[in-house]
Amino acid sequence: MPKTHPIWFEQRTKDAWQCTLCPHQCLLQEGSVGHCQMRTVHKGIPVDLSYGRVSAQQLDPIEKKPLYHFYPSSMVYSIGGYGCNFRCSFCQNWHIAQCSSHSQSAKYTPSDIVTAALRSNATGIAYTYNEPIISYPFVYETAVCAREAGLCNILVTNGYIQQEPAASLLTVIDAINLDIKSMQDTFYRTFCGGRLDPVLAFAKQAKETKIHLEITNLLIPDLNDSPAEIEQLAQWVAHELSPQTVLHLSAYHPAYQMHTPATDSPIVRHAQQVARRYLAYVYCGNIPDIDNSQDTHCTACGNCLIKRKHWETHVVGLTNQSHCQTCGRPSQIPLHRP
Ligand code: SF4
Repeated sequence: MPKTHPIWFEQRTKDAWQCTLCPHQCLLQEGSVGHCQMRTVHKGIPVDLSYGRVSAQQLDPIEKKPLYHFYPSSMVYSIGGYGCNFRCSFCQNWHIAQCSSHSQSAKYTPSDIVTAALRSNATGIAYTYNEPIISYPFVYETAVCAREAGLCNILVTNGYIQQEPAASLLTVIDAINLDIKSMQDTFYRTFCGGRLDPVLAFAKQAKETKIHLEITNLLIPDLNDSPAEIEQLAQWVAHELSPQTVLHLSAYHPAYQMHTPATDSPIVRHAQQVARRYLAYVYCGNIPDIDNSQDTHCTACGNCLIKRKHWETHVVGLTNQSHCQTCGRPSQIPLHRP
């Protein structure tokens, strides 16, 4: 375990430790595990079971995270672990996120991951697939090592973390895709086993640090896809983050314990139109007929800046300095690693 930064446990009694990493604040005793299945107490000492356990690692287009306004068309080395601090009944990665069978998996060091990322010529490392927050020590140490090697760090997260560990983690992160699942606290409590407020607080905290932040919202039929709720989400993002914040509206597909049929494309398209009343950049995801709904246009003159289709991305209308080739407006999209 790392000795240079806290691992977010506090001893409450002789036999009980409280995990202070996420808002669940699990109280753990010998042999019990937290809500995320990855933190326990063994022989009187708090232990992070997730350290170095990697369920998947591969090179992905950065657009798959999804991040559309951060080094477009680059490749990122993506790693995932096991477990999650949410219990989403519609979990799209449930085979690794809602499981605790990690002990047989191979164990890696931060330097193993960074070496693999460098070998694959990745722009950076993405902590993704399951919830990276619950693997805080490993993610933090790998991110420090990655920075030293000139790589950027990307967090794909549910944002369910306490403010203090978040502040520390954000010092080593360059870009985030944050999943805001709904604007209703009852949705979080009923379908995810969490609460809304800490997620929104994390979004604001990330924004204040000036880290690149994009938001994803998975649209589930009849649960969170009403125009009123999309409007509420887009208004919140515009007012509390910025009207320039990228929003990805993604179609749900049946998975894990939810058997509701997949979201129809017209629902996603309509949600995009609603959100565009408040936000400059709203993209559709997970639908077959994407047309131009994933392209980026200049907000001043309408020129197409970036074309995207089926994970193929072409920067077509930006100068090397990332200005619109037609009207010269800066896009604020970083194109190349310094
Ligand atoms: S990280 Fe895990 S053990 Fe810690 S409070 Fe959250 S769910 Fe509980």
